[in-house]
Amino acid sequence: MAIRLTKPYTDEDELREIAGVLASGHLTQGPKVAEFEDGVAQVVGCKHAIAVSSATAALHLAMCALDIGPGDEVVVADFTYPATGNVVALRGAMPVLADIDLEHFGMDPSSLEPLLNDRTRAVIVVHPFGLAAPMTEIVALCGARGIPMIEDAACAIGATYLGSQVGTFGAMGCFSFHPRKGITTGEGGMITTNDDHLAERVRRLRNHGAEKLDGSLAFVEAGYNYRMSDILAAVGVAQLRKLNHIVAARRAVALRYTAALADVPGLRCPVEPKGAFHTYQSYVLLLDSESNRDWFLSDLRSRGIECTIGTYALHAQPFFSQSFGYTPGQLPRSWRAYTKAVTLPLFVGMTDEEMGTVIGAVKEAAHSLPARG
Ligand SMILES: *Cc1c(COP(=O)(O)O)cnc(C)c1O
Repeated sequence: MAIRLTKPYTDEDELREIAGVLASGHLTQGPKVAEFEDGVAQVVGCKHAIAVSSATAALHLAMCALDIGPGDEVVVADFTYPATGNVVALRGAMPVLADIDLEHFGMDPSSLEPLLNDRTRAVIVVHPFGLAAPMTEIVALCGARGIPMIEDAACAIGATYLGSQVGTFGAMGCFSFHPRKGITTGEGGMITTNDDHLAERVRRLRNHGAEKLDGSLAFVEAGYNYRMSDILAAVGVAQLRKLNHIVAARRAVALRYTAALADVPGLRCPVEPKGAFHTYQSYVLLLDSESNRDWFLSDLRSRGIECTIGTYALHAQPFFSQSFGYTPGQLPRSWRAYTKAVTLPLFVGMTDEEMGTVIGAVKEAAHSLPARG
């Protein structure tokens, strides 16, 4: 049997929580969502946590709450899942793509700075694979110009930077509970913020633009149905209790990989920069620039190991190049990461033998890795 890329970690606890919600008869957004929101607010250390149906919904609402629209520019980290840039385009605004630093795969502050101008209405940074982007520099650049910073923390619940949780550095943080992320609700997301006004606006937009006025509902703007169901929040409540265990278990696998692979020629293991706490939502190798990454992936797969690319370079995707004039390769470091990164299997409960199989296969594949072609 193949070694899976990832496996969500659930047990009886999730079943018990779901059963409780079903028995209560309250299935849409209700008390379990509120309990899950309180739990996330506590873990992240923020004033408001607002549950939504996905991180994409969270990012979209962040753009809506800031009234981003046509004529506006939003700087977006280029190496990410396309949702990060799509939400800007969905508002009719221009996603201005910033290159990354290959050391940590996060936005490079020196690529960000020259992109900031009078039309810049927001910056969306990504905390890739469970590691915080360089917050000190990026917060300073945005703060000096009064530009709201949004954190796409979809992959990074539990990650910290200089002792603070991701999701607390900017105007809003956006988390995902898709099964490939740190903890899961099947599908789900969360917006974190310390700003009362943004929180109120996000809550209203999540629920059709409705507000309670004199005890009855009034629809004060056009909103969405981006609510989370209590059934899914029940899973989230149980998952949140496992967060520390999940992160510790993932870090242990990552540590073992790095100890075994750090000296293998032709590839580079992920790093944990000083001051950052990596949750290893994904364990991503970077191959040498001349290597044939796709051969490497198929070689691992032929040995029964599920693996995949790191993530996408937005500027090289047809939508972004056709709509905004980018050409593939234009952002060289993001392009390198897009074309040369490899994600290895990593999940809670991985056996010693499975880790050993992955390590052995990576060493063999690296040894016989042909040049690009
Ligand atoms: C997974 C992911 C998203 C989208 O999350 P959904 O909850 O599936 O909408 C957005 N940004 C990044 C960086 C992601 O990894």
